[in-house]
Amino acid sequence: MNLTLEGHTALVTGANGGLGSHFAQTLARAGAKVAVAARRVDSLHEVVDAIRVNGGTAEAIALDVTQRESVARAFDDASSALGPVTVVVNNAGIAITKPLLDHTEEDWNQVVGVNLTGAWRVAQEAARHMVKHQRGGSIVNIASILGLRVSAQVPSYAASKAALVHLTKAMALELARHRIRVNALAPGYVETGINREFFASDAGQALIKRIPQRRIGQPQELDAALLLFASDAGSYATGAVLAVDGGQLVNTL
Ligand code: NAP
Repeated sequence: MNLTLEGHTALVTGANGGLGSHFAQTLARAGAKVAVAARRVDSLHEVVDAIRVNGGTAEAIALDVTQRESVARAFDDASSALGPVTVVVNNAGIAITKPLLDHTEEDWNQVVGVNLTGAWRVAQEAARHMVKHQRGGSIVNIASILGLRVSAQVPSYAASKAALVHLTKAMALELARHRIRVNALAPGYVETGINREFFASDAGQALIKRIPQRRIGQPQELDAALLLFASDAGSYATGAVLAVDGGQLVNTL
């Protein structure tokens, strides 16, 4: 089994905090050179420094997934600095928690624009880049268990993640001939900026009681799944969706 990423260049979107920053550091520890990408470049430098302090190689890349030019430029910049990109972690994502009846057009467009259209844009540019360089590659879409089941007050988020799961399969189908694998990691609840406030609330505490393991996850508990999809250890896995969720999806309550 080969979990190493020596000789690979990875690009991680939304890498300046939360899961993205953790994923970037995990890939670097596995030997990848890592392009850490997001809109706020100042906080990207902190992630780059953390990787370099541990002996890894990383570059900060400005990226807004809602802008086609920005995405195309990110692959050019990453490739010039670190070599052709062979691993992409499509992690940038946002959530708006509001009842369905209060969701505005703007709320919907914002969430779907980043989580689905943004992820599609990044994955398509990634695939074009990988086809051009003829080295194959791995695209890991960060979905959510809310793409596989629903929860109240996040209709745009749940719909965007469900569509991302389906997009993963559609891309896997077309890209296999180019030796590009596309898989989705569907985390359950892991404490980060996107949900910290929620888990401190009464509703968040009540939700934790419904998780079979009675706790939320830690970012490092996603590492094995990430490396499985990113590395040659997962060479026969494509179009797969892997939930890592403390048993949340099998909860019948
Ligand atoms: P987070 O801490 O809020 O981080 C979100 C990241 O996305 C930030 O780095 C942000 O950086 C970036 N981002 C937002 N809009 C962007 C845009 N237009 N272009 C580029 N980057 C953008 O969230 P997180 O909890 O780490 O979540 C990361 C991913 O995991 C998301 O896709 C989320 O849906 C998924 N997920 C999380 C959990 C969980 O429990 N935490 C569970 C399931 C799935 P900038 O604002 O600087 O661009």
